[in-house]
Amino acid sequence: MIEPLKQELFLRPEILYGLFRPLSLIKGVGPETLKKLTKLGIETPLSLCWHFPNKIQTRFEGKSIAEAPLHQLVTLKIMVGLHMPPQKEGAPYSIMCHDATGVLKLVFFSSNGKYLKNLLPKGEWRMVTGLLDIYHGIRQITHPDHIGPLKDMKDWIGIQPVYPLTTGLGQKVLRNLIHRTLEDFPDLPEWIQENKDWPSFKDALLTIHHPKTEKDLLPESLPRKRLAYDELLAHQLMMGLHKEYHQREAGISLASLEKLAGQLLEKLPFSLTISQEQAFQEIIKDLASPHKMMRLLLGDVGSGKTIVALLAMLVAVESGAQSALLVPTEILASQHFKTISNYLKNMDLRVECLTSSTPTKDRREILDNLKEGKIHIIVGTHALLEDPIVFQNLGLVVIDEQHRFGVAQRLKLINKTSHTNMLAMSATPIPRTLMLTLYGELDISLIAEKPKGRPPIVSRTISLDRMLEVYESLDRIREKGQKVYWVCPLIEESETLDLGHVNERFKELQKRFGNKVGMLHGQMSSQDKDAVMMAFLEGEIDILVATTVIEVGVDVQDATLMVIEHAERFGLAQLHQLRGRVGRGDFPSFCLFLYDKNLSWSARKRLETIRDTGDGFKIAEEDLKIRGSGELFGTRQSGMPHFSLVDLYHHHSLISRAYEDVQDILRRDPDLISSRGQALRLLLHLFGHENAKIYLKAG
Ligand code: ADP
Ligand code: MG
Repeated sequence: MIEPLKQELFLRPEILYGLFRPLSLIKGVGPETLKKLTKLGIETPLSLCWHFPNKIQTRFEGKSIAEAPLHQLVTLKIMVGLHMPPQKEGAPYSIMCHDATGVLKLVFFSSNGKYLKNLLPKGEWRMVTGLLDIYHGIRQITHPDHIGPLKDMKDWIGIQPVYPLTTGLGQKVLRNLIHRTLEDFPDLPEWIQENKDWPSFKDALLTIHHPKTEKDLLPESLPRKRLAYDELLAHQLMMGLHKEYHQREAGISLASLEKLAGQLLEKLPFSLTISQEQAFQEIIKDLASPHKMMRLLLGDVGSGKTIVALLAMLVAVESGAQSALLVPTEILASQHFKTISNYLKNMDLRVECLTSSTPTKDRREILDNLKEGKIHIIVGTHALLEDPIVFQNLGLVVIDEQHRFGVAQRLKLINKTSHTNMLAMSATPIPRTLMLTLYGELDISLIAEKPKGRPPIVSRTISLDRMLEVYESLDRIREKGQKVYWVCPLIEESETLDLGHVNERFKELQKRFGNKVGMLHGQMSSQDKDAVMMAFLEGEIDILVATTVIEVGVDVQDATLMVIEHAERFGLAQLHQLRGRVGRGDFPSFCLFLYDKNLSWSARKRLETIRDTGDGFKIAEEDLKIRGSGELFGTRQSGMPHFSLVDLYHHHSLISRAYEDVQDILRRDPDLISSRGQALRLLLHLFGHENAKIYLKAG
């Protein structure tokens, strides 16, 4: 069933039909070309338009052979003369041509003579274009880019876009296809209101595909900016529509009862920080409102999000509803389960944990009890959502480390939980402007400061060849009865992940430190992973060699040293997240970033940044500067949407403008029915956001 959310929004408007028809219907696209286009990811006339040139090329019109500029791309009119087939194997096939001013030799290696005779019949005029060179005093073009009748000349003179290709698909074929598609491109109504100096959508595309200078292709050019803005606007509008829809939707209103929360607060060995308190109040207010809560609790690693979530869950429980805590991994599920059970001891509440490895018998019992409302708080992995689980009265779903769930998954979760209030938590520190792009569909509570009195983590960068010193620091930590994480990078080799590094390090550390060394990686079964993590938590092992599987949320208070091997291979987000695994208790903690000496400029910058900065949000800003348009601050793990035209470095400032714009649109015309609204619907289709409907399917 599709929820009634603006269903008709998703029917494709007629004006766009042509842009979505199958490419096979286009003249000149046979099955072979079709295959090549598919390979380039081009499936519709619209996606042809999104296939941008990556540079331009200038071809000079050679007035004559003698005057044409050497070492340039030239287009010449020539009279075909003598064919000279190769005299011995490996020699080229040459054809002598001329005009009134001189001789031009065309050279072909391993070419078919018959084909060339057809293409270049002796005694006829032809046009030829290619790189003009001189060899033994004779002007020549080796493998011309194109040979044709004289009427083709105009197509091969002047500035031309050069497109990324795939083997078997010629520049000219692709260019003509794109240019023809653009000729038929419909005149769309304008959806952008400000920025009057920007070209229209169509004109922007035309400029990019008919560039006059290299500048027309740069991200900061007006056409590119305009289209980037369109992409951002479309994305944020889609998110905004979701948010709008869910806000209108009735939620389960939960009274602000704080007796249980108060009891827990009294038991805590600490008091909440100001931001924790603030976030908690914002949440209570949302819970009490008649609308569904969709809030993101954003706070750096170690800022204490869990306790805030737990307090919120207690409010829900006290007003008679059940709460669920959804986490991305089993390790985290069991850890949260333990922590929460521990906090709620003597409170007469029932907490359970459900993951895909819960034994069938237990699972059945849990399901029954959830249905009968006997369980107050359930902690679990996505098993919680995917199974036909019935709650008696689910009032609040908390999603921890929600950046681990992609945008699509997140929207699915939101829809799955229908009227249930939702609190998502994330430690992904991103520049504030990007927050809007990432989390446009959510309200945000920010935990800005860390709990006071926690000793800072001492960070150092150390070259890998000083391994002995590193081992010595392990000794010192262990003498204090504390624990060490040792993270190794995965080596990606031909698609299979090589664990070689972790294994090797594990063996070496075992040799030196004995059997108190454990190993953890993503290819282990979840039982094994849990067992190792438990052993680490309980001190049976005190050195844990691992891949980045440990980056998420696990809290081992007496782990005080983090060693990250080949730190230069990790992104800043990951390094920061990993470092956040230590410094969680009252002990001074350390993080050693071991690096390979051959550092690139950006790797060196990254390491300096992580060493000198502890604040995730500052790191995020730095990352944006260092990496420019590259893979931004752990975009892969942050659930960052994939943009094809937006360059986060150059188009940074457009993000908040698009956000403001979307807010304004939703305020004035939330159903997109005004004439601008109609135009915006086109925009959603152009960027594929009509697919939003899959998130709207319930049940
Ligand atoms: P994260 O935000 O990364 O999920 P956690 O919720 O795991 O962080 O909290 C990290 C640690 O900080 C936990 O051991 C928690 O008990 C502790 N903590 C949380 N809030 C406070 C506070 N206000 N004062 C002192 N310690 C706190
Ligand atoms: Mg956490």
